[in-house]
Amino acid sequence: MRIRTLSMIHRRWREARMFARAMASTDHPILAQIVPIRRCNLSCTYCNEFDKLSQPVPLPLMLRRIDKLAELGTSIITFSGGEPTLHPDLDTLIQRVRSHKAICTLITNGYFLTPDRIRRLNRAGLDYLQISIDNVTPDEVSKKSLKVLDRKLRWLAEHAEFDVTINSVLGSEIRRPEDAFEITQRARGLGLTSTVGVLHDGSGQLQPLSPEQKSVYDRIFGLGGGLFTFAHLDGFQRNLIKGSPNDWHCGAGGRFLYICEDGLVHYCSQQRGRPGIPLEDYSREDVVREAAVKKGCAPFCTISCVHQTAMLDAFRSKPQETLAGIIQRRRERDPGWRTPASVGFLEWMFLSDPRRRDWIGSIALRLLDATRPTGAILSNSSKSVT
Ligand code: SF4
Ligand code: SF4
Repeated sequence: MRIRTLSMIHRRWREARMFARAMASTDHPILAQIVPIRRCNLSCTYCNEFDKLSQPVPLPLMLRRIDKLAELGTSIITFSGGEPTLHPDLDTLIQRVRSHKAICTLITNGYFLTPDRIRRLNRAGLDYLQISIDNVTPDEVSKKSLKVLDRKLRWLAEHAEFDVTINSVLGSEIRRPEDAFEITQRARGLGLTSTVGVLHDGSGQLQPLSPEQKSVYDRIFGLGGGLFTFAHLDGFQRNLIKGSPNDWHCGAGGRFLYICEDGLVHYCSQQRGRPGIPLEDYSREDVVREAAVKKGCAPFCTISCVHQTAMLDAFRSKPQETLAGIIQRRRERDPGWRTPASVGFLEWMFLSDPRRRDWIGSIALRLLDATRPTGAILSNSSKSVT
């Protein structure tokens, strides 16, 4: 069996474990985004997450922060920036995340990817990589362009053993909405996963979409995708592009953490300063308290990864209702949709006999080792990377 297939099977197993842990308890972060360097080689005009001068966070500090996130029980750790591939020790950081059995992901502008760099990311154990592409040809707003990055996408399709997602973007700063459709088609043509995001303003809020942008969004949506992608888009983006608020609970500060280059915990990249507690002092009590805080910015929030963690919590508290609603809307929108085996299993498990759900659930948690306390996860993890 090819290495890529084996890596994929192992990754799905670890995702199942992450899902089971998220279902088993709410006292740990599902996802943390951490900044190893604030500097970026580009200067996209809509971006407020980069500078031109800062130095990489020193390796020992970064390793301590990763260990602390593992101690809190974090399931997924994402490196973002700035441009994280500018950090000279990124491979060591990825290895450290993997040594804690967490899922490791990377958000990059892709400029520094070469076949050799991709092979090094494979060896380090990266699980996911995401590139946002803003337009087909570079303009004064953004140089993250298909024309510049197409060669990188081909290398990724050829060499990456990790999953690759190409994110296209719609929003008022993006001149040609039609580009998002072309980027999505190119990504799918190469066998890569694609998503579409909506640009937010400096506080994470929606910037209204024009009728043309809405129509491109519908065409991309019409290209299909997995149930999770559907649920995610259907669950919040559709409301936002219509200009309607979402009724949801943002668990940032608990289920999602954003760690800046100074090592402070923030709700997200667009709500920095809250709670602003040093990660080294962050406790389980902080996780539980901040997750419960009602955030006034939630109704028009576009921060997609935080919505995804909230979707898991909605599923946890009302599994039957949430799953039945998603499947029904998916079938209404696409009568030809064929239920994948994994969704069929979830339907069988959650939407049938409650006793079956309970005993299968408890066996699954044991098999996936998902109820083990975080301390045990830490003490069992390999420390060989340092
Ligand atoms: S590449 Fe990313 S981090 Fe850099 S300026 Fe553009 S959006 Fe910001
Ligand atoms: S709702 Fe949550 S994720 Fe969205 S901007 Fe506010 S704090 Fe950030």
